[in-house]
Amino acid sequence: MRVMAPEEMESLIRLLSDDGYEVVGPTRREGAIVYDRLQGLNDLPAGWGDEHGPGHYRLHQRDDQALFGYVVGPHSWKKYLFPPRETLVRVLRREDGGFETQPGEPAPPRRAFIGVRPCELAAIGIQDRVFLEQSVRDRAYGARREGVFLVAVNCAEPGGTCFCTSMGTGPRAHAGFDLGLTEVIGVGMHFLVIEAGSEAGEAMLVRLDHRDASEAERAAAERIWQEAPKHMGRTMPGDAREVLAGALEHPRWAQTAERCLSCANCTLVCPTCFCAQMEELPDLEGNASERVRLWDSCFNGEHSYMIGGPHRSTVAARYRQWLTHKLSTWHTQFGSSGCVGCGRCITWCPVGIDITEEVAAIRATAQGKAGGQGT
Ligand code: SF4
Ligand code: SF4
Repeated sequence: MRVMAPEEMESLIRLLSDDGYEVVGPTRREGAIVYDRLQGLNDLPAGWGDEHGPGHYRLHQRDDQALFGYVVGPHSWKKYLFPPRETLVRVLRREDGGFETQPGEPAPPRRAFIGVRPCELAAIGIQDRVFLEQSVRDRAYGARREGVFLVAVNCAEPGGTCFCTSMGTGPRAHAGFDLGLTEVIGVGMHFLVIEAGSEAGEAMLVRLDHRDASEAERAAAERIWQEAPKHMGRTMPGDAREVLAGALEHPRWAQTAERCLSCANCTLVCPTCFCAQMEELPDLEGNASERVRLWDSCFNGEHSYMIGGPHRSTVAARYRQWLTHKLSTWHTQFGSSGCVGCGRCITWCPVGIDITEEVAAIRATAQGKAGGQGT
């Protein structure tokens, strides 16, 4: 086991910048931990932790200087890989009356993501399958994803809305990263366990100042890995595929819809949701047009608009679509759950609707409610 001092994060950020990466990671802004450009160690949210509950998020000052002492904030890495708004293509009228196309956006920078939680690594893997491994490859996503350097951070203190253990995505990452870190902090000790997960990670590791862990350090790290899974704030009650597929007419959808504001927060903060809409934006002279892709949500009425109107016209139908897609039909479509257990949809739901509680309620009472034509 190799360890390094927390201050060595300064070297890691500098080396990645020197290698041409745009380094992004967690920083504190406007009362939240968000992802943004990092210039150095001082941009990391040292000494800050976060509290999570249904519709509840607060930062607090810790009594230590942990660099990664928070869980996750409202941002996910999808804002870099699948940005909320992007121009896919520009079409320009030539002087001879013909048309030419131009790329919508400049070539993306090569990015290094610092502080990727194990559930977030899993979410990136899910979006890779959605955007890159289907019959049509999304070139814009592929260009941003290629060459990303991933620095994962294992979770020592899962949050009040976390349930990655239930989803098999955390709290420790075993693959899918270039460098993996575990922050160990306690009486008289503060260090980072560091491991390489790729050739690029190995190459970076040799440039960092690190050493073999002592027995005490090794034991402290092992304790974190063993204890963290026991402290999830939430549990997803089993595989929901069959339960949800057989409960399309369950009264719970309408009951929850009475609280749901159809605000779409849950889909916007979700690291795997990928629905988008396209807009054509012509200029007034008719000489140029842009095709823009914007995040959309199954909670928006227009999202299911087909000839004659939206086919999910009620909030209950939209809520059911979201939950059944995430946890049931996503398996059929992409071979896995669409949920990684990050808990953001619970934390950032303004009325505190809890995906784990919803599944538990439907599971407990689903028998005999299957079938029907849809809400
Ligand atoms: S559905 Fe909720 S808990 Fe699951 S990945 Fe999305 S935001 Fe996270
Ligand atoms: S479940 Fe919550 S976050 Fe999602 S649309 Fe309804 S009110 Fe908004």
